[in-house]
This record gives sequence, structure tokens and C-alpha cells, in this order.
Amino acid sequence: MSPRRWSLLAQRPRLIGYVLLVETTALALTAATAATVSIRPREVAVLAALAGMGVLQAELGRQVERVRRRVNNTPHINMTSVWTFAGVLLLPTVLVAVLVATLYLHLAVRSWYRLRRVPAFRTVFNSCLVILTCHAAGFVLARTGIDGMDGALDRGWTSIGALALAAVTYFLVGALVAVPGLSVTSRSFQELFGGWADNLLEVATLCLGMLTALALATFPALAAVVIPPLLLLHRGVLVKQLEVAATTDEKTGLFNTLGWHNLASHELTRAKRDEHASFGVLMVDLDHFKLINDRHGHLAGDTVLKAVATTIGHAVRDYDSVGRFGGEEFVVLLPDIAETEVVTVAERIRDAVARLEVEVADGDEEKVITGLSASIGVATYPGAGTVVERLLQAADTALYEAKNTGRNKVVSIVDVA
Ligand code: GH3
Ligand code: MG
Ligand code: MG
Repeated sequence: MSPRRWSLLAQRPRLIGYVLLVETTALALTAATAATVSIRPREVAVLAALAGMGVLQAELGRQVERVRRRVNNTPHINMTSVWTFAGVLLLPTVLVAVLVATLYLHLAVRSWYRLRRVPAFRTVFNSCLVILTCHAAGFVLARTGIDGMDGALDRGWTSIGALALAAVTYFLVGALVAVPGLSVTSRSFQELFGGWADNLLEVATLCLGMLTALALATFPALAAVVIPPLLLLHRGVLVKQLEVAATTDEKTGLFNTLGWHNLASHELTRAKRDEHASFGVLMVDLDHFKLINDRHGHLAGDTVLKAVATTIGHAVRDYDSVGRFGGEEFVVLLPDIAETEVVTVAERIRDAVARLEVEVADGDEEKVITGLSASIGVATYPGAGTVVERLLQAADTALYEAKNTGRNKVVSIVDVA
């Protein structure tokens, strides 16, 4: 790992400021609460039990976690919430902070090392975010007048709302403390908050955390039964992530060949059931793209590809599917559309690409690339073909014609034939 990536000091000043603010706040809050509590031996035993189970679960799920980290970029969600949220319900926050530090240190050393180049400061920062989240949930719980799980057991039904409120606080604060990071780092909303699968995982781990706390407060030996469902949950989420990764183009986030073909086959089956159905296939190829790479470098070329991907996505309807089959060639599937309208959509894409202005970094310099253009081949079901391959061939033939007759234009296979 190069020092530049490792070091917090190599980051942008606003990011450094945010990181230091979070870390000092977490430390100060923890120190302040530490001064006011006296720790009982039973609480130390609960801390040891939670840390022990957390370490055991992380060890048993180590391979899954490593694969999950490889295919997915959302850093803040992992299975530790089971133990830390149980800690919130059972322990003074200063001990929860010790628990968080122990579990994150273990994960960093055993599960995350040498994976994607995650700088060490990020792990410290993430554990401080979790500590802040625990403080918030513990604070809200204390406001309800329920003193953790033990107190809740004495109060029966009325305490259920308080426990749920603590869980909701944990979930929301955990998501919200990450928000300022949106403006100071270049991560997208999706990368920062994860997809629905990651958030569902977080909800499920909080539920298991509550059950763990309940067991530890009543029949401690039973707490270990949460480990098998937890491992299964972890594995289930990995399967979903692999499925998404297998059908997504990493560079642009669009569908890849497999993902797009799956959708196109599905659309074809649907269309065949309805004799009046029609749908469109567009093949979009950027004009003289090699020149962009030659003039501005491959990285700038990649930035342009991402911008074009976003532009095409904005130019079509929500239920149209945009894919990239590698290179600088995009395919669009337009379900439920009349033959005449397909060309209109293609023209809209061509026009949007032509008006695109892409900011790229060329060395230390910022540049704006303009004057892009695309040629588009259009084919429509059923006129141009009734299988996916045939439709793609037809769109490709039309694209070839567009390239041969001047580029920056839309050609329909009907015009070629
Ligand atoms: P035209 O289509 O107008 O005939 O000319 P072109 O220069 O765009 O030619 P072609 O489509 O054959 O070339 C594709 C070029 O795209 C070649 C390659 O350098 C570049 N390219 C392919 N994939 C990528 C990629 O992922 N990133 C970058 N930066 N460039 C790519
Ligand atoms: Mg091209
Ligand atoms: Mg090409």
C-alpha cells in the first residue's frame, strides 16, 4: 500500500476536517460518558461475551466477507451491528466503544487486509462513525426512561416502543453520519449508502442484535444461537451481490452483455405473447473515440464513457434498459414502443451526446471535452427480426451504414434494406 493512499494527510483538506471532527467528537463523547459511569463486573462479562461472539462470527464468515468486499464498494455496512447494537441495549456507551474498536480492529487485521486499497484511516474513521451512532441510540434510549434491556424486561410491553426507537435511531444515524462524506469525497449516493440488499441486511442485523441482547439479559448461553442465522444471512447477501456484479458493467454501472441479453430475452418472450407488441433496439457507437484517447489519455476516455452512459440513461424512460458490451458501444432496449417512435428516441440520444460537455482531469489540469458525436443503428421487433441476435445484427448493419454515410446520425434498418 503506497503511503499516499494510507495517509490521511494526503486527502483533501475538507475530508481531513470532517474525519478529524468525527474522530474527536467520538472520543470526546466517549471520554465524557466514561467519567460518569461506574462499571460493574457483569457488564465486563457481557462485553467479553459480545466481543467473543463477534470475533467468532467474523472468523467463521471470513471468506464470505472477503468476497463480499471484493465485489462491493459499500464500506460502512457489515455484520458487526448485531453485536454493537446488542451492546447499546446492555452496556454503558464507553464499553460499547471498546467493543466497536475491538471488532473493527479484528476485521481490519483478519478480513479486510490487502483487499481493495482501503486506507487505514478509513477503518478508524468508520469505527468512529459507529461509535457516534451507538452514542445517539444510547442517548435516545436513555431519554425514553428505559435503562437498556434489563430495564425493558421489568417494564413489559411498554418498553417495546423504546427498544424499537433505539433501533430506528441506530439505523438512521448510521446512514446520516455518512451524508457529509457525500460532498467531500467523490463517492456516489449508491456507493455510500449501499443498495437495498445492504440496507435490508442492516435492518436484519439490528433485529438479531435485539434478540442477542434479550438472550444475554435472560439466558446468556442461548445468545450463541444467533450465529448460524447470521452466517446464513451474510452468505445470502453475497449471493445477491454476485448476481448484480455478474450482470453489471463495472466501468459505467450499466448492464453488461449478460445482463442486457437476459432482459432482451425476457422482453422478446413477452412480445411474442402479444401479436401487436413491438420494441426497439438501438446500437450506439461514439464517433472517432480513439482520438479522445489519443489526445487526452485513456483515463479521460473512461470519464467520457461514464458521462455518455449517464446521458443515454437520462435520455430514455425508466423502464428502458441501457447496456455496454465493452468498448465505446452501447445498446438500448426500448420496450413497448411504436416503430416510428424508436427513431425519435435515437435522435434524442444523438442530440444529447452532441451537446455533452465532459470535465476531465488531464494531469493537474482540468479540461472540458466537447464536440462528441455518436452514430446510432436502429432495429425494431418484429419488422427487423424475431430473435435477439437477429435484432442486434440488424441494428449493427444500420450502425455500419450510419458510419459509412457521414457519422453523427441515426439510421434505421428499414432505410438500409
Ligand atoms: P468510429 O467508431 O467513428 O469508426 O471510430 P472510433 O475511433 O470510435 O473507432 P472504434 O469504435 O473502432 O474504436 C473504439 C476505440 O475505443 C478503441 C479503443 O481505444 C477505445 N476503447 C474501447 N474500450 C475502451 C475503454 O473501456 N476505455 C477507453 N478509454 N477507451 C476504450
Ligand atoms: Mg467508435
Ligand atoms: Mg466501436
